[in-house]
Amino acid sequence: MPAALASGAEKLAARYAAVVVRNHRVSEHFVLLHCQGDRARHAPGDNISVRVGDRDVRHYTVLTAEPGRFGVLVDLAPDGPGARWARDVRPGTRVVTPPSGRPLRARPGRRHLVLGDGTALATVRAVTADVAAAGATAVSAVEAPAADHDAIAGLAPDVHLVPSAAAPGVALEDHLPGLLDAPFDHVYLVGHAQSVQRLRTSIRAATGMNRRSIHTRIHWADGRRGL
Ligand SMILES: Cc1cc2nc3c(=O)[nH]c(=O)nc-3n(C[C@H](O)[C@H](O)[C@H](O)COP(=O)(O)OP(=O)(O)OC[C@H]3O[C@@H](n4cnc5c(N)ncnc54)[C@H](O)[C@@H]3O)c2cc1C
Repeated sequence: MPAALASGAEKLAARYAAVVVRNHRVSEHFVLLHCQGDRARHAPGDNISVRVGDRDVRHYTVLTAEPGRFGVLVDLAPDGPGARWARDVRPGTRVVTPPSGRPLRARPGRRHLVLGDGTALATVRAVTADVAAAGATAVSAVEAPAADHDAIAGLAPDVHLVPSAAAPGVALEDHLPGLLDAPFDHVYLVGHAQSVQRLRTSIRAATGMNRRSIHTRIHWADGRRGL
């Protein structure tokens, strides 16, 4: 590797180095990784990238953060290299978790609808908290298997959990009419690409909302690896 690149990689590694201090299997489909790093300065809702194998890098979202510590909730549903790494990573493992892209943040407005799947719990929680901090109202829901609800409810107390159905996104779509009882200034849709697309179409059809008021963040897509 050229010297300049090597020194860049070393700086990145030094700046974002952390150690997994606890691997907490909170439920059948979720693991909460607690990490510590002297220089860790992530904020809730930040996106990070993690090397999960020799050839694979995956993206996750910071759920909880304080100086020198952060937590990441990983949905184990995919059973790809990322989910397997999260399931098996041992306390004491060193990781490098640089920020990855611009996180989704709440926009100014009075009423917000925030929807996502199990991969989106951290993002939904962060946007919901931003909205509350601004004195506005968020209606927030995350679709996740019913069997996991008790275990993850405490991780995002202001987020309504919707039991997932046979296919991704179907449960949230079924809940939409009840959620769209009053107008929203902004809608945030996070997670599975095809579900986000369908939800956006349904919301626009039901409300006539402007496309620019619906903010999307894709976390995974059918048949795609390592999005
Ligand atoms: C910015 C960003 C932030 C993210 N934050 C989080 C987070 O905080 N927590 C989290 O758990 N995930 C998060 N994700 C999603 C996570 O990166 C993907 O689910 C990732 O692809 C999983 O890696 P994998 O190696 O296990 O599976 P891959 O090798 O990527 O995929 C294997 C197969 O599983 C399918 N698949 C991928 N994800 C899922 C899923 N969730 N459910 C069902 N099938 C799936 C794929 O379509 C593919 O067919 C985020 C993604 C992005 C882009």
